[in-house]
Amino acid sequence: MSGRLTSRDIRSESRLVVVRSLLAAGESTRGELAEATGLSLGTVSTIVQDLLKHGIVAETGLLSTGIGRPTTGLRLNADRGRVVGVYVEDRYLEATVFDAALGELATVEATSDESVAEADEVIDWIVRTLDTVLERAQAKREDVFGIGILLPGGMQRPVKAATTPDAIWLHLDRLRDTLGLPVVVDNPLKAIATAELWLGAGRRVANVVAVSLGFGVGAGIIQNGAVVRGATNAAGEWGHSLLVFDGRRCQCERKGCVEAYVGIPGIRRTLAEIAPGHPLAEGVDLVAAPAEGPEGFDLVAALADAAKDGDRAAVATIERSAHYLGAALADIVAILNPEVIALKGWAGWPVWRERVAPIVRRRVLDDSPGDAAADLAIELSPTCGMEGIAAIALERFMRDLGLVTTRVIPAL
Ligand SMILES: [Zn+2]
Repeated sequence: MSGRLTSRDIRSESRLVVVRSLLAAGESTRGELAEATGLSLGTVSTIVQDLLKHGIVAETGLLSTGIGRPTTGLRLNADRGRVVGVYVEDRYLEATVFDAALGELATVEATSDESVAEADEVIDWIVRTLDTVLERAQAKREDVFGIGILLPGGMQRPVKAATTPDAIWLHLDRLRDTLGLPVVVDNPLKAIATAELWLGAGRRVANVVAVSLGFGVGAGIIQNGAVVRGATNAAGEWGHSLLVFDGRRCQCERKGCVEAYVGIPGIRRTLAEIAPGHPLAEGVDLVAAPAEGPEGFDLVAALADAAKDGDRAAVATIERSAHYLGAALADIVAILNPEVIALKGWAGWPVWRERVAPIVRRRVLDDSPGDAAADLAIELSPTCGMEGIAAIALERFMRDLGLVTTRVIPAL
């Protein structure tokens, strides 16, 4: 892609700005949109005209602004259709229905006792869950203009094992044919970046990194107001950047990755190193890659409780994890120099604010080059990946109507 912006690019970026501004305001006027976006009234009017023509935006009647004559109110047209976000894991499936203004209508979670690995089974499972969630949202399949599926990995991901996500990668065309609906697939890091761009810190500033902290960790990157994808959609795999040379073995088989230290299994491994006999660290293998323990996400809460009760190993584990996180975030600052780092996942745990945040902030300030982090805000993110994949499906729908909103389009 060349670095030069064409007038078509500028129009599509302005269109995204207008749509996001309407989403934030709920209801607005052309004049207010021009003021909020910094675009000229003429540009806003042209964009709004296109959006009205295709039913993406609806008029809400005359609004009195107190000065001059009343002007026409505008809002995103929630009833334009329905969009569904789907998250697929080996034994877990979640589907959420949104209206066309990204308002959540219904959600369904489904679990399976056995690993669902056969493509037919996976597709069948998705279709059944989709029908259930649509019924709950009182919507029909023909109302759906887009289905967004969250799948880990890059777009050209090499298939290593027959896990559920891989089975879908191999059979996307069958899934599309079976559903008979537009399907867009993207990885969770691009979804959290898009959610942050549309609904989070990306509304206020142009350079944001949304950091996801769960079993795995990764970063959704917004740079100069656009989601960064990279050559193969693999940008943001910060969890597999190096924190410790020749350090712990990671799930990806490399040694010393960030994820092996700040992913939840990595935190448990830290506890096992600090206090080998600790009940919460039972069964940890100090040689293999950190693996999920029996407590799963509960480990975070259990460690917090133990720390509150004065368990010194728990306190030390939380503090060391905060240092690992801060050091790894400083690398993000060194490379991307964001205005905001928006944290998700275990950063929201109860001890975060009191024990983790001050250490992370100090560490990021100390380890970042020069004054790169001087004005950096580190905050908790209010958005989720499901909203992001719904926004990506909405953008895809708009693109199919000729209303491109981003310069870089998802490959699938
Ligand atoms: Zn790794």
